[in-house]
Amino acid sequence: MKVQNTSRTVSFKGLIPASTLKELAKKNTVESKRLLNSCLGFNAVYKGAENLNPDKVARQIQDKFHINTDFGNNPIVASFCALTANIFQKLGWAKPTGFFLRDFNGTYYQNALGICMTHKRDDSLYSKFKKDFPLRSVIMNSFPDWWSIQECMIPVREQNHFSTNHFLAPFIHEFVHSAHYAHLLKKYKDGTEIMNRMQREFTNQKTIVMIQKETSNYGAQSPCELIAEEMTELIVNSLDPKTILPDVKVFKMLRKQEPNLMDELIDASWNYDEEKLKKFDWLKSQVCAFMYDKK
Ligand SMILES: [Zn+2]
Repeated sequence: MKVQNTSRTVSFKGLIPASTLKELAKKNTVESKRLLNSCLGFNAVYKGAENLNPDKVARQIQDKFHINTDFGNNPIVASFCALTANIFQKLGWAKPTGFFLRDFNGTYYQNALGICMTHKRDDSLYSKFKKDFPLRSVIMNSFPDWWSIQECMIPVREQNHFSTNHFLAPFIHEFVHSAHYAHLLKKYKDGTEIMNRMQREFTNQKTIVMIQKETSNYGAQSPCELIAEEMTELIVNSLDPKTILPDVKVFKMLRKQEPNLMDELIDASWNYDEEKLKKFDWLKSQVCAFMYDKK
C-alpha cells in the first residue's frame, strides 16, 4: 500500500479535533458516520498509546498469537498491530508470520506504507538489512508519522486512491495480503508462485474501470491489490466503533451486497480461479511491476 505524492517531510497533526468531529456528526451520511467512527476510534487509540509500553504489547502478541514482532519502540504502531491481529482472530483468518517496523529509506519500497513478504529473498531489503524476512510477514515503514495517519487517510480516500479512510486500513491491507497468501498456500502446492503471479497488472480497461468505481484506484492494479483493498473496506465497515472488532455477520452481509460481476472477480482472485480470471482478460498481462505494493 502506498500513499501517492509522499514527500519525506514529517507532520505532527495527531488527534482529530472536536470541530472536525462535530462537522462529521452534522453531515449525517453513511460516509460521514463511518469516518466519524474511525476518527473517534483513532483518538481513543492515540490517547491509549501515549502511555503504552510497546514491549508489553509484543509479549502479549507473542503469548496470544505466537507472532514475532518488532515495533521499533513505537507505541501507536504496537497498538495498530494488536488491534489488527485481534480483528483477524475474530474473523478466523490467518495472521502474519511476523510483524516488523523498519525504515524503508534507500530501498525499493521507500514510499510504501507497508509490504507483505511474498518472496524468500528480496534483494532491495537484503542489501539494506542484511537479512531475509519470513514469508507472509508484514513490514510497515517507520517513516510515515503514524500518529497522524487518520488525518492523512482522508484526502487519499477522497482521491479514490484507497477504498477507505479508516485509520487501520494500511495495517489491515497488509494483513489481508498475508491471509490471502496463507489461503493460497493451503489450497495450492505452488501457492507462492500463484501469489506472485497475481501481482500482475490488470490490463482490460472495463475491468479496471469497474474496480476503480466499486473499490479504489489502487485495487484496480492487480488481483492481489483488489483483494487487499476490497477486504479492507469490508472489514473496516463491519467494525464495532467501540471495540474496534468486526461483527462477522455484518462482514458477510456487506460481502453479499457487492455487484455480481465484482463478486465473481473477487472470488476468482481470492481462490485463484484461472478460468474465471480469464474472463477479465487478466492472464493476457505479463507485467509484474507492482510487487509488494510498490509503484
Ligand atoms: Zn497491497
